[in-house]
Amino acid sequence: MESAEIRRRWLSFFEERGHTVVPSASLIADDPTLLLVPAGMVPFKPYFLGEVKPPAPRVTSVQKCVRTPDIEEVGKTTRHGTFFQMCGNFSFGDYFKEGAIKLAWELLTGSVADGGFGLEPEKLWITVYLDDDEAERIWHEVVGVPKERIQRLGKKDNFWSMGVPGPCGPCSEINYDRGPEFGAEGGPAVNDERYVEIWNLVFMQYERGQGTSKEDFEILGELPTKNIDTGLGLERLAMILQGVQNMYETDTLRVVMDKATELTGVRYGAEHGSDVSLRVVADHIRTSTMLIGDGVSPGNEGRGYVLRRIMRRAIRNMRLMGATGPVVQDLINVVIDTMGLQYPELVTDRKRIETVALAEEAAFLKAIKGGTNILDTAVTETKAAGGQVLSGDKAFLLHDTWGFPIDLTLEMAAEQGLTVDEDGFRRLMKEQRDRAKADAMAKKTGHADLHAYREIADAAGATDFTGYALTENEAV
Ligand code: ATP
Ligand code: MG
Ligand code: MG
Ligand code: MG
Repeated sequence: MESAEIRRRWLSFFEERGHTVVPSASLIADDPTLLLVPAGMVPFKPYFLGEVKPPAPRVTSVQKCVRTPDIEEVGKTTRHGTFFQMCGNFSFGDYFKEGAIKLAWELLTGSVADGGFGLEPEKLWITVYLDDDEAERIWHEVVGVPKERIQRLGKKDNFWSMGVPGPCGPCSEINYDRGPEFGAEGGPAVNDERYVEIWNLVFMQYERGQGTSKEDFEILGELPTKNIDTGLGLERLAMILQGVQNMYETDTLRVVMDKATELTGVRYGAEHGSDVSLRVVADHIRTSTMLIGDGVSPGNEGRGYVLRRIMRRAIRNMRLMGATGPVVQDLINVVIDTMGLQYPELVTDRKRIETVALAEEAAFLKAIKGGTNILDTAVTETKAAGGQVLSGDKAFLLHDTWGFPIDLTLEMAAEQGLTVDEDGFRRLMKEQRDRAKADAMAKKTGHADLHAYREIADAAGATDFTGYALTENEAV
């Protein structure tokens, strides 16, 4: 079943059951606590909190999502993308646990001829929150899932929250058993690659307060109503229904990998390292295209930094596979052609998206050229002196003059058998930031005008990549 058909079935199933179809919101969150939308419920947060009256008691959507913290998983696990689409159904004070559970089961296991997805019930495993006897009872007694396939998990997996203040509640997840070729048995509690999570049903019922982590926070009290927020990963369901090994091999991403193999001559399936690169390229190029489509421009901070890092990582992986010239135009056009069916604004906006992407590629290719020379010299010198660690000074120089993200320096040094003094690098970054602050203060008080120097430095190709100093979480 193609991704477009999964989407169509999802929306019509819930529309037929009284839900109003709401189009995906932009990836740029209309929420000061978030840079990018990581889940389908984000546009509906004020309804859950009772701040705004919902347009309808039941809605459904397929929401574009970006999860930057999942970047390290891409290509390594089979199921994480930085961009994905979350299919959701929502109830604002309408149906609750039993309604949501029954709808989910009906859609997943209903026959394909009747509009369902036709999954075999025996392959579905359920998790519920530690103390959620009610959810377990519904799964077992109402739906008929045997107790052996219902597991209880703690806050990390089965209690969902979003923002402070924000709604939260226990959740129940539906996982699909992909079989012994994906590892040991025992259910999602022990093996999340084999028993892949496909759908999360959140019973939004409390308001979350301050805390130190996703597992440690205060609950302020009950929300005005008991609500439902669900999210199913479209790409994950596509992976199951299309019988492929990972989400990058599903229809909308596979074509990007195919284009990358065409441009590099590397064959998918030939070798682990290049397979990971192909998956990273497919994922990151798609994410970049979707972000530019929603109006993000590459930059040094915030969303612009997320986009820059993701795009540069894709280009870098193309080069690892042997590409030497520009590749971005061909790759993004594959994304525009396939994703454009669901998001026609990508097609209308093709020229603008190309212009933004090509400018970033050109800037990065120039940086790689200049930076590689510095790096090679530094590596030779370090080795000649019997060292194994590239100094923090060199990593900082690469960053400061050529905009090398630290992860790029780490990767390139590792290829030549060296590690990098990351602590030293970060110390210099911090010193630079402190200096910039002091300069800004001086400028404010009229003691110095560094503006002109900044312009000269920029004209000479030096860029200030303060954004890369942020850790992933800070950047998100
Ligand atoms: P996982 O445990 O696999 O990381 P999650 O618990 O973080 O997933 P949720 O926040 O519950 O995910 O999101 C709801 C659904 O969205 C998931 O059940 C999954 O199908 C999908 N999903 C979440 N993260 C990703 C991702 N990075 N790529 C693709 N799909 C995702
Ligand atoms: Mg996750
Ligand atoms: Mg999970
Ligand atoms: Mg989950």
